[in-house]
Amino acid sequence: MTDPSPLEIEIRRRITAAGPMPVSEYMALCLSDPQHGYYTTRDPLGARGDFITAPEISQMFGELIGLWMAATWKKMDSPENVRVVEIGPGRGTLMKDALRALNVMPGFREAIVVHLVEINPILRAQQERMLDGQPTPVSWFASLDEVPEGPQIIIANEFFDALPINQAVKTERGWHERRIEIDAEGHFAFTQAPDPLPHFEALLPPAVKKAPTGAIYEWRDERAAMTLGRRIAKNRGAALVIDYGHAHSDVGDTLQAVGGHAYADVLTRPGEVDLTAHVDFQALLRAAEAMGAVGYGPLEQGELLRRLGIETRAATLKARALPSAVQKVDDALARLTGHGRTEMGTLFKAIALAHPSLGAPPAFDR
Ligand code: SAH
Repeated sequence: MTDPSPLEIEIRRRITAAGPMPVSEYMALCLSDPQHGYYTTRDPLGARGDFITAPEISQMFGELIGLWMAATWKKMDSPENVRVVEIGPGRGTLMKDALRALNVMPGFREAIVVHLVEINPILRAQQERMLDGQPTPVSWFASLDEVPEGPQIIIANEFFDALPINQAVKTERGWHERRIEIDAEGHFAFTQAPDPLPHFEALLPPAVKKAPTGAIYEWRDERAAMTLGRRIAKNRGAALVIDYGHAHSDVGDTLQAVGGHAYADVLTRPGEVDLTAHVDFQALLRAAEAMGAVGYGPLEQGELLRRLGIETRAATLKARALPSAVQKVDDALARLTGHGRTEMGTLFKAIALAHPSLGAPPAFDR
């Protein structure tokens, strides 16, 4: 047995004092506790980290998103000043690759300032190193609410899956909030609130209402999606959100833990493994549209990247690559766009949000 993590001690203390803990509170503590949270204490990315993301797989990903941003700016009638905002920028790789790709688009690069929204001090330092020497001004914010208003293009890749979810379990008596208790052996275990959530059933999407007993429904706090929608509606602009998840609201337990590139147990080593859950794109779109933005998609990631020209980009890279690197480009292309279980092309999806005056953003217009 290894020693309990500092966060495990804190969670035990809270459960002992106040009773079983809602899944959302557990997930919020695990991810963003200021002292012991997963995202406040480490760099989770890359081969030696816990997981790898699309921009870390290939430069093509960030480059194509850079072209998406430039084409979006044109649709906005090329304003002289525009904010390029990224929420949860990881190591800054996507932004670095995007900015490099903009060298082919005169005017846009001169028009932008970059704003990065990040809570992780270690990643923020990585981002500073990654973007050092860029001619484009870069500044950091702790939340999207703090980013100044004005025309803006907002990007979020694998950000929403890291926001806490709530879970409820269906019984004959209704939907009960799912919680975490300490069981008879002294381990963390799932349980549920004794009484059903009041007035819950009426608010559920139709597919969820029909769920059988035992089904689990997940939902996120909608503040982040609403902030995004409100910013797009208030300022002329657009957002691109890419993440793994489902196109339609439905039941299913998708809460998962990953550490060292392998699945881990959700309830062990809190704060030391990554916890994520599928993004419910239907719910995200609904929340953002309620604030006045127009939503598009979801499109599968593979389809988005094909529409943005990934095959041509891969061919160009291969033509310039050493023979030993050609296979790497093909592997990355397959990983980003393929339909297999270990590939991202279908599992990951993209939605766009735009100001009503803009029309459909690039790649979402057919
Ligand atoms: N977009 C990057 C990183 C994805 S990991 C990539 O694709 O590689 C999730 C990112 O969101 C990390 O940068 C993490 O530190 C950040 N993050 C997590 N919770 C956050 C929050 N509440 N506010 C701002 N950033 C957050």
